[in-house]
Order: sequence, then C-alpha cells, then structure tokens
Amino acid sequence: MSRPNSPSEFRLEALRACLEAMARRLDPEAVKRLDPIGVVHRYEDPNDREVMALIASAVAFGRVQSIRRSLEKIADALGPWPAQFIEMSDEKELLERFHPIVHRIYRGADLARLLLAARDLRRIHGSLAQAIERFAQTPLGEAWALSHPLASRPRLLALLVRLGDALRAHLPASRPSLHLVPSVRHGSTCKRLLLFLRWMCRPADGIDLGLARFPLSELVIPMDTHVHRFARALGLTSSKSPSMRAAVEVSDALRLIDEKDPVRFDAVLCHLGFTQPCPLAPRHDPCQRCPLRRACAVWMGHEKS
Ligand code: SF4
Repeated sequence: MSRPNSPSEFRLEALRACLEAMARRLDPEAVKRLDPIGVVHRYEDPNDREVMALIASAVAFGRVQSIRRSLEKIADALGPWPAQFIEMSDEKELLERFHPIVHRIYRGADLARLLLAARDLRRIHGSLAQAIERFAQTPLGEAWALSHPLASRPRLLALLVRLGDALRAHLPASRPSLHLVPSVRHGSTCKRLLLFLRWMCRPADGIDLGLARFPLSELVIPMDTHVHRFARALGLTSSKSPSMRAAVEVSDALRLIDEKDPVRFDAVLCHLGFTQPCPLAPRHDPCQRCPLRRACAVWMGHEKS
C-alpha cells in the first residue's frame, strides 16, 4: 500500500462525515438518470448487464450527455438481449450494425470489435464475471510489475493486464483502439476498466451490479478529472495529474475511512462532479454549497484568510 496522506493533512474525521452523509443522501435513481450505468440497469439478465456494462464503461469518455446519447444508439443496435445478440452474430453482422455509430474518436468498428472480444471471453470463461475472477487468481510474476504503482495490489494488476490484453484481441493496433482499451503496462490510469470493475465487483446497491467476486479493499478508484480535482482539494493526493499513482494514493486514503470498501465513495464523487464540478480554487459558488467544503483544504484556507 502506498503511504496515504496523514489524517491530519486532510481532516480525516471531517471527510468521513462529509462522505458518509453524501453516501446516505445519494439517490440511485438520480445517478441512473445521468450516469452511463443507468442504461445497464434497463436489463434484468446478468449476462446482458455485464455486456452492457463493458460497452458503457468503454464509452464513458467525454461529456456525460454525449456518452448517454451514444449509449442509446449502442443499445438500439444490440436489441433487447445484448448477450444473445453478440453470441449469435458473426463479425460481418456486428460490424455492419455498428457502422453508423461514432463516439468521439471511436468508430462503430472499434466498438463492434470490443464486443467480439467480450463474446470470446464469455465463450471461454462462461461470463465476463468469471473471466474477471480467473484473471485475478494468479499474480503476474513479471519484473516490471514490482515497480508498478499497482505493485501493492498484485491481483488487480494481473486482472487489468489480462483483461486488457483479452479485450484488445480483435482491435487493430491503432490509436483509437489503444485509447479504447489502454494498457496498464504502459502507465495508463485505466479509468474505464476500473469503472467496469467497480460496477461488476461492488455489491448490488442500486448503482453497482455485484456480478463478480474480487476483494473490494483492493479495488482502485477510477480516476477522472472530476474525481482528481476533488481529491486534490481534499488533500488526498498531491499529484497534479489524474495518474494511476494518484488513483492508488486516493484509494489508500479512502481505506482510512472504509478499509473494506474504499471505492464505494466513487459514486458520490462522480455524481457531484457531474452536477457541480470542483473549481479547485475557493469560489463563492459552487464552494458555498459544496457538501465537501468542511473537509476541503482549499475552502478552509480561504475561510481563514
Ligand atoms: S469546497 Fe470548492 S474547492 Fe473544495 S471540494 Fe468543494 S468545490 Fe472543490
């Protein structure tokens, strides 16, 4: 575990109170109306949910409204039973069905090829959930892994390497493809793969799905710009970029609040970021109404001055 910031630095008790209050108040229905996971919850069958969770996390890049628009098109293309659809379709059919879809730098063909990889994984392991569980069983045993920011979480590192490799199996070695499923070996934050793992592995709580078993204490927060800005304001990381090192640092700090399930606070931070992004500098608005302000080093410094 990387050394967390000391509790005195980020006012641990104030932060605990703020985050727990936010978690209690968080309305899963409000999250689902805005967040990509809302589309996943339209499906009842766990097989459909895991396929939709993979594609929804993969396109969780850019403005949330644009992500939801793209997801509606993807859901239309896959029909009411996405798992069955990818199982029954051949490559040509999937590529044709996805041809009109574009999400930022990703073309429909990239998304179709990701789904072909998901189909292969489901054929080999029975489900994506079982693939996750198997990929995490054995640490890598490769020298580079010992100095990786995730070295303290060897099962998660092995899982990200194996899952990433498997999901890239049908993708060409082009820039958009490598962006769609980045490599943890090369230092990517793997925000969207970590988001997929959060959804899949955290218990079903109206937002996350509880489909795969993985030690929750070892999960790392999916670090996006919003979460990174809050984490900096709260003193959870000094890293200036939303790197994997920052994600581990923040997750280790959140373990001081919930040792068993630190990543459960991701939903509250993400939702706050969607509705009220952090300016990372004291401003009357939105800081005045920010539910984190009593634990925020930036705001408290401003109050004192
Ligand atoms: S009080 Fe302001 S600076 Fe602090 S976390 Fe909230 S929005 Fe960010």
